Amino acid sequence: MAQVRLEKVSKKFEDGQAVVSRFNLEISNGEFLVLVGPSGCGKSTTLRMIAGLEDVSEGRIYIGDRCVNEIPPKDRDIAMVFQNYALYPHMTVYDNMAFGLKLRKISKQEIHERVNRAARILDLENLLKRKPKALSGGQRQRVAMGRAIVRKPAVFLFDEPLSNLDAKMRVEMRKEIIQLHSRVASTMIYVTHDQIEAMTLGDRICVMNQGVIEQVGRPRTIFDYPATLFVAGFIGTPAMNIFRGSIVSEKGLFFDGGTFRIPVPQEQVQLLKAYIGQAVCFGIRPRALNKLNADETADFMLSGKYEISEMIGEEILLHMVSGEHHFVASIHPHQFSETEPAEISFGLDHRFAHFFDAETGRNIT
Ligand code: ATP
Repeated sequence: MAQVRLEKVSKKFEDGQAVVSRFNLEISNGEFLVLVGPSGCGKSTTLRMIAGLEDVSEGRIYIGDRCVNEIPPKDRDIAMVFQNYALYPHMTVYDNMAFGLKLRKISKQEIHERVNRAARILDLENLLKRKPKALSGGQRQRVAMGRAIVRKPAVFLFDEPLSNLDAKMRVEMRKEIIQLHSRVASTMIYVTHDQIEAMTLGDRICVMNQGVIEQVGRPRTIFDYPATLFVAGFIGTPAMNIFRGSIVSEKGLFFDGGTFRIPVPQEQVQLLKAYIGQAVCFGIRPRALNKLNADETADFMLSGKYEISEMIGEEILLHMVSGEHHFVASIHPHQFSETEPAEISFGLDHRFAHFFDAETGRNIT
């Protein structure tokens, strides 16, 4: 049974512009779903509609069997954790977590049990008597989560909860959220613009762009088989290289990028025959480019002028240019020399080649 279901949900604000359009999505019981996309694509609005903090302009939202369109937030059986954790500064950690339960007239004994259980799960047991100002950012964020856990909601909603933390703390909190999900086993919907957060947290990821869903799937599937040019460019660091060109037929099928030509891999020839003479985008990830020595060649080869390099720890990114195309290759530091030649060639691993319809952006292969 789907725990949360959105059926053709749209949202228009007063100016009449749709910021979410005909959004269809089912989230299963216990699933961790991440909504990811660039700033302004409608992620928070979607989450706020599920929470009941925004009205739905069209369509229906179900939590369990119940259509919740007309149900106020407090009766939806959800708990939301926001980016600015909004703790009460004058209350202790214990009281911050207990506050919502007291309002619901839950017995003291039960409140005590629930707060202590949440404190155990989130490793806050030694901090229960402290006030928020005596906590680190990560500890405050855990208290904000504790406040959600004690409610035992059917669905947790997270709106960029880690964006105020520094990089190291974010990595730690990601691990804690994964552990939290496995301990409480509740349905979780998590909004972020950070694709690494999305890839590491989600059972499934929903990639949004301009109010519509581009692709929904498991992180690996989205990385390996991006359904559109947008997803190909958005998911993965460094981003996939995209070259605009056309398909030509000349003793075989080729992708012609103007300054270079590569044969269409055998397994993709049938699909690409329909595109002869048409504009197509060819995509390949920087790690599927293998640097060749000066005397080496390859069947699938791409050359370019070397511009600059970026050292990012385990790998070095070579920024290259070929005519109007800019591209990036990722190489191992031992393949790098301080005196790189002006022109470098790469063999392409064709198993990781993607072709996109240049008009619609859909992945053809
Ligand atoms: P971010 O990552 O920056 O928070 P987002 O993907 O969560 O972005 P939303 O906050 O859902 O995006 O906003 C989607 C669009 O709706 C934006 O263009 C925003 O300006 C617009 N919007 C949001 N709230 C309102 C409002 N109350 N009135 C009018 N427009 C709004």
